[in-house]
Amino acid sequence: MAGEPQADCLFCKIVAGEVPATVVRESETAIAFRDISPQAPTHVLVIPRAHHADAAALAAADPALAADLLREAGAVAADEGIDGSGYRIVLNTGSGAGQTVFHVHAHVLGGRDLTWPPG
Ligand code: C5P
Repeated sequence: MAGEPQADCLFCKIVAGEVPATVVRESETAIAFRDISPQAPTHVLVIPRAHHADAAALAAADPALAADLLREAGAVAADEGIDGSGYRIVLNTGSGAGQTVFHVHAHVLGGRDLTWPPG
């Protein structure tokens, strides 16, 4: 069922505290933790506690939760002090776009100049 924890999902395990992560922010609906392989001085992942495979599935199943995720991503940027200089929120959607973990996550990247287009 949409939103239910998935036994084989790494990020559901992080939500459950079964896999360690450096958590920087928590809300009722989302948690944010540092990416294990940072691509910028600030690289934080924001995930909903509920399992949704990707951004499209999340938006279709629970638009309010999708809004929470974006709000938390902005709050992370403010916490990290990168909101003034600019930052990027990335939601890789589908393996062709580089998604490797199929529990929706917003990358919050900043602290350096970010080029466009992304690779
Ligand atoms: O968008 P994509 O699915 O590729 O992003 C997955 C991200 O999860 C990667 O940036 C990877 O470094 C991160 N990751 C993590 N902790 C893990 C496993 C993956 O931060 N234990």
